[in-house]
Order: sequence, then C-alpha cells, then structure tokens
Amino acid sequence: MKTCKDLANLIFPNVDKTIEDLEKMYPPRNLPEGAKVTRFAPSPTGFLHTGSLFTAFIGYKLALDSNGVFYFRLEDTDTKREIKGSDRELLEQLSLFGINPHEGLTLNGDKGSYGPYRQSDRAFIYQIVVKEMIEKDLAYPDFTTKEELEEIRKKQELNKEIPGYYGKYAIYRDLDVDEAYEKIVSGVPYIIRFKSRGDHNKFITIHDEIRGDLSLPENDQDIVIIKDDGLPTYHFAHACDDHFMRTTLVTRGEEWISSTPIHIDLFKSLGFKTVKYAHLPVIMKLDENGNKRKLSKRKDNEAAVSYFLSDGYPTEAILTYLMSIANSNFEEYLIANKDKTYHDFTFSLKKMSLDGALFDIEKLRYFSREYLAKLNKDEITSLCTEYGKKYDEKLLNLINRDVNYFKNIINIEREKSNPRKDYSCLKEIYDGITYFYSDLFDEIELEFNEKVCRSQLKLILEDFKHLVYNEDEQAWFNSLKEVGTKYNYATDNKLFKADPTKFNGNMADFSEILRVALTGRKQTPNLFAIINVLGIDEVIRRLDLAIKKY
Ligand code: GLU
Repeated sequence: MKTCKDLANLIFPNVDKTIEDLEKMYPPRNLPEGAKVTRFAPSPTGFLHTGSLFTAFIGYKLALDSNGVFYFRLEDTDTKREIKGSDRELLEQLSLFGINPHEGLTLNGDKGSYGPYRQSDRAFIYQIVVKEMIEKDLAYPDFTTKEELEEIRKKQELNKEIPGYYGKYAIYRDLDVDEAYEKIVSGVPYIIRFKSRGDHNKFITIHDEIRGDLSLPENDQDIVIIKDDGLPTYHFAHACDDHFMRTTLVTRGEEWISSTPIHIDLFKSLGFKTVKYAHLPVIMKLDENGNKRKLSKRKDNEAAVSYFLSDGYPTEAILTYLMSIANSNFEEYLIANKDKTYHDFTFSLKKMSLDGALFDIEKLRYFSREYLAKLNKDEITSLCTEYGKKYDEKLLNLINRDVNYFKNIINIEREKSNPRKDYSCLKEIYDGITYFYSDLFDEIELEFNEKVCRSQLKLILEDFKHLVYNEDEQAWFNSLKEVGTKYNYATDNKLFKADPTKFNGNMADFSEILRVALTGRKQTPNLFAIINVLGIDEVIRRLDLAIKKY
C-alpha cells in the first residue's frame, strides 16, 4: 500500500528539502519595530498601468514612512501573457517617479537575500512546499479532464450551486493513494490541487487595514496550486512568496478581496503566520453614460502611465494627484503647509476612501499647474529639455536655438511669490511660446478687433513705435495711455463704465491692439515683459510688418 509520502516522492523525486529548510533559508527580517515590508508584484504584461503606479506608490510610501523595505517581485508565471522586456520598462517608469525598490528587481540587477525575485526562478521553492503538502495530505494530484470539468459546471448550474471544485465535486480529492500512484506511473496528465478543510457555510473574519473587519465565507475550494505547465497559480505563489520574502503588509487592488479567504486557508494550512492586507481602491472613471467603471487598458488612454508622461505631466505632480486620491486630508494638509509636499505628508491607510477613486484629469491639471509654476527658470528649462528629447522635438529645437532666450521667455511672471499658472503640462509650452520666434510669428495671421477702424489702426500702430520702451513699466504704460487718449480710449475705467458709448473702448481694448500686433494673440502674459524679451528692434519690426499687412 502506497502512502502520501510515496506519492510525493513519485511526483518530486529530486526535491530533498523541507518547509523547515526554507524557514531557515529565509529567516524573519531583522527590522525595527513597526517597519513595514511591502512589495510591488506586477505581471510582465506590458506597460505600467495607472492603477499599478498607485499601488506601487502606496506600498513604497508605507515602507519609507516606517523605515521598512519595499521590494519588487515579478509575477511571471503566466507565460502566455508575458511581454519580454516589460520588467525593465516597469522599473524605468517607476524610477521616473522616484520609486526605486530597495530589494528585488532593480535597475541595477536583482538585489537582496530573499530571492530569487522572479516567480519563474522560484520553482524549487514551490516544489518543496507542494511536496510537503502532498506528504501531509494537504494537496493531491487531480486527473479531471476538461470534459469532466464541463460536466461538473453544468450540474452546478442546473442545481444552482456554487461553481468550482469542492466537496463532492472534487472527484479526485479522496482518490485512493494507490490509484493515484498508478495513474501517474501510467502517464495520465494531472495538476495539483490544495485540499481545503473549509466550509463555505461558515464565515471568517478578515482584517483589512483600510476597511477594518470583513466577514467572508470560508474557502472550501480545492484550488489549483500547480498548473499543468508546472508553474504555480497566483494564490499559491502569493502564500509561498509573501511568507518566505517576509512581507508584512500586502498592498494590492481590491479585486483580490474575494480571494482572500483562499489565501487565509492556504496560510493556515501551511502553518504560516498570516500577512496583513490592505486592499486599495481601484481607480475608476465616469463613462459616457455617467456610470463609474474601472479604467480599461483597451478603452482609456489614462490607463497607461505613459499617456501622462507623453503629455508632459511632471511625475511629482502625478504623485501629488495620486496622494490626493489616496488620502482625503492630503489637500487640506497642502493648503495648511504651503511649502510641503507628499514627501512630508504621513499617509494613513485608515484615511483611505473606500469607494473606487474617481479619476479626475482637471484635478491632475491643477496640481501640475501649481507644480510647474513654482519651478525656477533653470528647473523648468531642464524639465522641458528632457521632455523635448523624449516626446517633443519641436520644443527641443526651440530650446536649442538659444537656451538663454528660452529661459527669458519661460521666466516671464515666474520666480515670484504669485507666479503665472498657465501651463498644465509641458505639451502646452510649444504652442504657448511660438510667437517669440520671428519666423514662427511671421506665419501667424493677426486678428485685430473688428471694432477698430482700419485707417485708424495704421495710425495707432505707427504711434506704438514711439512709446517709451525702456526698463520702466510705468513710464511705458503712461505713454501707452497717452496714445490711447489721443484715439479716444478711456484711461479711467469708471468713466468708461458710466457711458461706454462715449469711447472707442478702454485701456484693455487699446492694449489689445498692441498685444495682437506683437504676439498675434488676445491673451498673453504681461505685455511689457514680453516686449522686454523680444527687444526693441523686434518690436519695431513687428509693428512695421503689421502696418504693411493690415
Ligand atoms: N501579479 C498580481 C497582479 O498583477 C499582483 C497582485 C498582488 O499584489 O498580490 O495583480
């Protein structure tokens, strides 16, 4: 008569280590009290998803705030969905956000003594654990065919029963060990399942660090732990990896809540101390019909972090935005602490909102505007240069024509206590500054206000050539007012409001003529500052051009 141990030896003849050996190989970490060990565990399926950045950021912040460890583990057991090279791309994109794992996969190679950090290299660990589970009758080979599974599914549907492989439907669960042994020897294909002792009529309490205590039905599913390709399923790998990598807090998307009873069942059966869980809200968006739905990889540009990078949203602004989704008191904190950032803020899982966080591009644009406005001219120039190199050749070319000229342009109404906030992302800068460059300006069609009669327009433009153009803004403006008065534009707004019909317009209308002549736009930053950047010769050239053309 064969025993479970014989069966285990038959399946894993070369595995000679035990769970106890693994416990010694990967001992509990020696960290200060309260230090959290968190991780980012993506599958290498392509780009960095906005939701994944959120998860990684929260895990990283929790580790940093507690002097703990944040590590990167690659969950590459789904070989069909794997896209080669995405591990590096994920690391590079995280690094742009200043998220550099302390351990695991890093840009400088794999680091740390709890590895390997790629699940595909951890087969020996899973095998040790499974072997021991089979020996202890905690796992068994399952020979169910596809057709049998389909039959089970139909029966359950007909009887309105919970679907899955459990209880009486787990047909190979109590197969005689001799029979199982025979089948394997004769080459019948199989997978390995967990032998659950749970009962779904009973409830267990699971503590979630965000949601508090949750009451969920116990797991009774004999879930697959090793697939037919020999690789572990997510559930099983999660138990082995987070235990032997000594994770203390699993931060993952809320879509995993319903599987948590399975995980608790596995941890308990294996005698592992359970980890703590924080299930993070999923980022949602309002669809065309006003309904909330998850950001979709296929439908929504915002689902990929690269979308924000290519539009030139600064990574710091994106993280600020994500922190505002994460903790509702963060914005108040920013208002109360003007020179602080999310780096200084203590994030709290307890203050996390429970509904799926709604993605709000206007909010991101707001944080981004605030961030960009506070940079000094050198900082924003180097940000634009980096951005230009990757995403915006036209902008890069402008900068490279004359970097000091670019700095003068971008410094208009900057480096002051209340800087101008007109750029929400770097993509907007090129269009915002083209008029400073003569060749690009000359292509612009000037649209003067139709109310200004054309014969008078020429005279006004001619007079503009003789304004006081020196360093003194007040003197310049006084000379502008003088010309305005000459053409019956009101210099006193009260008088103008009392009876607008008496005038051709007010000073705002009058300076618009000069603004359009010099920039081609009705709205610009401070016109005097623009004049200073353009220089007197260029101002005269543009006025002459306008006189000729209009
Ligand atoms: N690989 C899983 C995923 O992509 C990770 C979930 C977890 O963090 O445990 O969703």
